[in-house]
Amino acid sequence: MNQILESIQKLLEETARKLQFEQKAIDKLLTPEHIHDFTVSISLDNGTKKEFKAYRIQHNSKRGPYKGGIRFHPAVNKDEIQALAMLMSIKTAVIGIPFGGSKGGIAVDPKHLSVGELERLSRAYVRKIFAFIGEEKDIPAPDVNTNSKIIGWMVDEYTKIKSEELKISMIDEKTLNQWRATFTGKPLKMGGSLGRTEATGRGGVIILKSLLGKTGMGSDKGPTIAVQGFGNVGYYFAKIASEQGMNIVAVSDSKGAVTGNQFLPLDIPLVMDCKQEKGYLAGCYCVGGVCDLRKGRQISNEEMLELPIDILVPSALENVINRQNMSKIKAKIILEMANGPVAEEAYEDLTKKGVIIVPDVLANAGGVAASYFEWLQNMQNEQWSEEKINERLKELMSKAFAKIWKRSISRKIPLKQAALESAIESLI
Ligand code: NAD
Repeated sequence: MNQILESIQKLLEETARKLQFEQKAIDKLLTPEHIHDFTVSISLDNGTKKEFKAYRIQHNSKRGPYKGGIRFHPAVNKDEIQALAMLMSIKTAVIGIPFGGSKGGIAVDPKHLSVGELERLSRAYVRKIFAFIGEEKDIPAPDVNTNSKIIGWMVDEYTKIKSEELKISMIDEKTLNQWRATFTGKPLKMGGSLGRTEATGRGGVIILKSLLGKTGMGSDKGPTIAVQGFGNVGYYFAKIASEQGMNIVAVSDSKGAVTGNQFLPLDIPLVMDCKQEKGYLAGCYCVGGVCDLRKGRQISNEEMLELPIDILVPSALENVINRQNMSKIKAKIILEMANGPVAEEAYEDLTKKGVIIVPDVLANAGGVAASYFEWLQNMQNEQWSEEKINERLKELMSKAFAKIWKRSISRKIPLKQAALESAIESLI
C-alpha cells in the first residue's frame, strides 16, 4: 500500500478509536463508497491511439455530494487518489460545508501532450465519469496540472452530453448554470467565481488572524512571518497578510529565499515584480532599486525555515519540516498552507515543545470554501461580487476556526487532533 494512504488510514483509525467508535463504523470510514478505475483512450496527433490509466474515487457522501479535484500527473495511482479523496472528506467536514470527499486523476505527463491532445484527453475523461458526477452527486475541480482552461473543456463536454441525453436543443440560462455547478474552478465566462484564485491564501490569513486573536502573540510591532513558496498559495497569503498590516519578513521559492534587513517587513508587490522579471526570487531584494531601498539579503531555503521568527508558513511542498531540521525550527506557530508540510515525527516533537501547528485541513481550506461559493452561485443562478465572496469566506473560515479552537481548548488536545475528531464525528 502507498505510504500516504497507509498514514491517513492509520491516523483516522487511531482517532476514531479514541472516540470509541465501533470497528464496523471505523472500517466503513476507511473504505471509499465507490472506486471508479478505468482507462481513457485518445487519438494522438500522429494518428496512433493511446490509453491512459484513470480514476475517480468517491469516499464519503454522508454530508453532501462528493467534492474533489482532478489531477493529471504521471505518478497518479489508485492508492494516492483514495488517500486524497479521504482528505477531501475531512477538509469539507472541518469547515462545515455540505459536501463529501472525492478525487480523480489520470496517469499522464501533460507536458508531453499537445494542446489538442490535452483537450481530447480531458473530454474523454468526462465521457467516462459522466454517469457518476453531477451538481448533486460529485463535483470535480482543478488540482495538480489542471486549471480553469481544462475545466472549461470538461464543463463543455459535460453540458453537451447532458443536452444530448435529455434531447434538449435550447437550454435556458438557469438550467445551464445548474449543470455547470457540476464543476468548480471554471473560467468566469462559463459560470466561474470571482475571488477563487486568491481564496486559499486569503483563507489562511483569516485563520492566522483568528489564532493570533486567541493567543495574543507577538511584540508591539506584531509577529514576524516567513512564507515558504511563492506560488498561488504563498504569494496570495503573503500579499493579503501584508496588505492587512502583518509583517512578512522572508519569502522563498524553489531557487532560494530573501529576507529584509533586521527583519523589516518585505514589500511583497515589489518582490513579485522582481520575481516576474527574473523568473525566481533569489537575488530579488539585493539588486538595483529594491536592494538600495530596503537592504535585504538572500538566504538559502533551509536557513529561511530556521530563522528566529514567530510564524512559519510552509506553502510549497510536503514533509519540509522533518526529522533533519525539527530541532532547528524556532517559530512558535506553524500554519500548514501546503498539504502535509510537517512530517509525522516533526509534528510530535514540535507539538511537545509547545509549537502551535495549524493543520492543513483547516489552514488551506479557503480554496474549497470558494468552490462551495461557486457551486452556490451556479445553483442559485447568481453572480456574487468579490466583496461578497470575501465576506462569506471570512465568516465561514472564522466559524470553522472557532469550532476547532474550542474543541482543542476544552479537550486539551492539539488543533490537528481537534480537527480530525470533529470531522470524524460528522462522517461516521
Ligand atoms: P504552485 O506550484 O503555484 O507554487 C509552489 C511554490 O513553491 C512555487 O513558488 C515554487 O517555486 C515553490 N517551491 C517549490 N519547491 C520549493 C522549495 N524546496 N523551497 C521553497 N519553495 C519551493 O503551487 P500552489 O498552488 O501554491 O500549492 C502549494 C501547496 O499548497 C501544495 O502543497 C498544494 O497541494 C497546496 N494547496 C494548494 C491549494 C490551491 O488552491 N492552489 C489549495 C490547497 C492546498
